[in-house]
Amino acid sequence: MNLVDRAGTATYVETDEFAKKAIREAARWCNAVTVASSADKKFSYIPEVRAEDLPQNAAYLHITVNNTLFGTQYHRLPQLGVPLVGDLSSAMLGQLYDIEDFVLIYAGAQKNMGPAGVTVVVLRRDLLRDLPEEVPTMLDYKVQVAGRSMHNTPPCWGIYMTGLMLDWILREGGVEEMARRNNEKSGLLYEFLDNSTFYTPTARPQDRSNMNITFTLPDEALSDLFAKGAAARGLINLKGHRLVGGIRANVYNAMPIEGVRALLAYMKDFEMEHRMP
Ligand SMILES: *Cc1c(COP(=O)(O)O)cnc(C)c1O
Repeated sequence: MNLVDRAGTATYVETDEFAKKAIREAARWCNAVTVASSADKKFSYIPEVRAEDLPQNAAYLHITVNNTLFGTQYHRLPQLGVPLVGDLSSAMLGQLYDIEDFVLIYAGAQKNMGPAGVTVVVLRRDLLRDLPEEVPTMLDYKVQVAGRSMHNTPPCWGIYMTGLMLDWILREGGVEEMARRNNEKSGLLYEFLDNSTFYTPTARPQDRSNMNITFTLPDEALSDLFAKGAAARGLINLKGHRLVGGIRANVYNAMPIEGVRALLAYMKDFEMEHRMP
């Protein structure tokens, strides 16, 4: 609403359930065009956007930078001369990106930054403009900026907690160090998965997420058993999203490497017990 007029065109890359939701919402407002999709292969890769598929008048190109449910991640951003908008909900502060590559990013705090209820928006100031009357005041970024994000009473506790997290990240070495740790944690898992004949990693190697590691077992019944047994060892939230199936290990900033080592030990034990003779 802030970036495109009612009659305007916005373009989207469809890479996950969250990207699909963003497209559905945009379509209520403007002409929302999906210019690339990885739906053909169960969202297991980041599709290339070809310049010739972009409409001339696109106000922006929206991408989901880390695809939480399917475990893919942009490692190279599209550079097509169209202003780039990014959903960084599960990538923010966990991987290094250049903010200058985007005109607007947004991220729900609940993955890597703080409690649910806070959403961070960073936008280029020159994009602020007077919006049509029909845009609700609360959704008008010009109003939010003028009110220094306090046009109404914001969720103070969530913002305070997020502030403490940001201090902690700085003390630990900043985003660079978070990215290094997440790459190390996910690297251990991918190395194990790549050498396994029992577990199968699902994301295309060059598009793999350093935050959400997705894999399958020989069948879904085994996946259920795997998740249940893991929970009994205190390894929780491993079941893939109901739309995806399989297993998803989340190694966000808050997950220590010991958690990954415990998961690897469990994966070895589970395989020993359930491998077909
Ligand atoms: C978690 C997440 C969201 C927001 O999820 P809600 O549960 O709706 O707050 C949006 N996009 C991505 C990529 C996410 O990972």
